[in-house]
Amino acid sequence: MAVLDTSALLNWPIERCRGQIVSMLQQDELARVDEQRWLLIEGLEMDWRTASDDQRQLVHEVASKTGDLPRLSDVDIDLIALAIGNETKLITDDYRMKNVAREAGIEVEGIMTSGGKKQWKWLLRCIGCRRTEEVSTDAHRSKKDDVKLCDRCGSPMKLKRA
Ligand SMILES: [Zn+2]
Repeated sequence: MAVLDTSALLNWPIERCRGQIVSMLQQDELARVDEQRWLLIEGLEMDWRTASDDQRQLVHEVASKTGDLPRLSDVDIDLIALAIGNETKLITDDYRMKNVAREAGIEVEGIMTSGGKKQWKWLLRCIGCRRTEEVSTDAHRSKKDDVKLCDRCGSPMKLKRA
């Protein structure tokens, strides 16, 4: 069994979620984000738990070290702590959670790479001439989604779902 983050609960085929380890703190979050999905999940035999204070404290320490602590929610912390406490892997696409979990020695698996159905890739498209190109792995992260300028016309290129 693995610990599932909320995106996994939203995106995995419902039968695949059955019996996996989840945090009680996710119940409110799930009900708020997608009530219909929550009703489905509620009807499954999920392994609802909360982490112990010791386990959560350990996550606090590791996340302080990596610098991720200020951006982790209580739910995030509880999920990582549950993976530690149950010595199992964590399913998430959140890079902060991945980072902290790996630092704590937990195996991490992505949601889309582990059987999710919503698979897509990103392309860059020029807002001027509409030329598209593959996203290079060295594209820098930025707050805006302007990643680079078009080689052909010099207009900004935006990330688009292919
Ligand atoms: Zn262009």
